[in-house]
Amino acid sequence: MNETFKAAIYVRISRDAAGEGLGVQRQLEDCRELADDHGWPVVRVFEDNDISAYSGKNRPGYNALLAAMEAGEVNAVIAYQLDRVGRTMPKLADFIALCAKKEIGLYTVKGGNLDLNTAMGRTWAHVSAAFAQGEVEKMIERMKRAYQQQAVAGKWRPRRRVFGYNADGSALDPLESTAVREAVQSVLNGVSVRSIARQWNTAGLITTGNANKWTSPTVRRILVNPRYAGISTYDGREVGTGTWPTVIDRDQHLAITAYLSDETRRSGTGFERKFHGSGVYVCGKCGAKMVTTTKSGGYRVYKCSAQAHLSRQQAALDDYVSLLVIGRLNRPDARLKLDTPDIDLTAMYARREGLQARQSELATMFAAGTVTGPQLAKATADLTEQLTEVDETIAACTLVNPVAQLVLADDTLESTWDRLEPDTRGKIIDALMTVTVHPSPLGQRKFNPEFIDIEWKKPWKA
Ligand SMILES: [Zn+2]
Repeated sequence: MNETFKAAIYVRISRDAAGEGLGVQRQLEDCRELADDHGWPVVRVFEDNDISAYSGKNRPGYNALLAAMEAGEVNAVIAYQLDRVGRTMPKLADFIALCAKKEIGLYTVKGGNLDLNTAMGRTWAHVSAAFAQGEVEKMIERMKRAYQQQAVAGKWRPRRRVFGYNADGSALDPLESTAVREAVQSVLNGVSVRSIARQWNTAGLITTGNANKWTSPTVRRILVNPRYAGISTYDGREVGTGTWPTVIDRDQHLAITAYLSDETRRSGTGFERKFHGSGVYVCGKCGAKMVTTTKSGGYRVYKCSAQAHLSRQQAALDDYVSLLVIGRLNRPDARLKLDTPDIDLTAMYARREGLQARQSELATMFAAGTVTGPQLAKATADLTEQLTEVDETIAACTLVNPVAQLVLADDTLESTWDRLEPDTRGKIIDALMTVTVHPSPLGQRKFNPEFIDIEWKKPWKA
């Protein structure tokens, strides 16, 4: 700290859009940060709030600041912007003259500093430059700060209605919010984003944007939007807890985000199975995967995807494999075979809460001036890193394993299996076994399981 330096902060708000004095708080935070960055002790803080009929005529804070400057109590003044200390040129000129007389430095967060050790002419150049800086730019800056502040406070900010909510976010739209909740669960269970888009279009759900129809990218954006889990963000980062009703919980949000961040699921335009053996069953002649094709007369078969040398009846083969899957998973040992992660989720949540509490404690200390800007920044970075780690662990545990989903379903295995999308069934088959289709003798027209080889994968053997 520079002991000879005695800084005063002056903040003034003329019209606070939020109307809650946040404006002054914002300016103060930034001014303190400027002082901290330079290691200047702040000895006094003066503030004025001009909202009211007085509109700038009566400024006790400003007058007290001038008195302190006259009395030699401070040798530097920190303001958010030059127009805070004098909105009109004559006022500002008076202020600068006082600074010059008492050898007081003037530092602003947004407008740079005035070097008063040089000639007045040069000083005026600075002042003019500061004023020439567009009013628009300043306004945008103020709006951005206000926006950030609102995000931290968990306020609802979107101007356009958000799918699933009413216009001001105070209540859920029952139909849309249910659609979002169910879609998140379905996608975690293996349903493709593309098929959700199709379902929503069929159900007549309307986007709140300009698009007429739901597409994979628009649905995907909805599914990963943290707003539905009550997470308030600014610049893509989580900054607070929303004050609006939630559609899904935090874990579901983490899980769906992790799940969809996998590149293969991102576009939703990738391979989508229509029959559960496509890309799963193996050709017994060459080892290539099998795919479906429709023969003349609407008769569907699986055929080798590499060469035209092997095919098998689709419906019969699929039914046979379904029976094997259900039979295997119905055995009492199925639950034991599930690969459950050995992580104490309750402890993870406790750790998460602890880290969050520490974060808000730091923010309070910073606001009270007991923690400096650089200290806060460092501590916040450390905490964020730890939080990310915890969130990733929770997401990994929550990510639904399709086989577990089937085994642990409340309904019977048979009916659950039938309800699953072919894509999910394919993943389950792939997790359990290798299905190899061998050539059947010439003249063999009826499906015969004898020529299908089933090899169970590791935990499912025997
Ligand atoms: Zn083949």
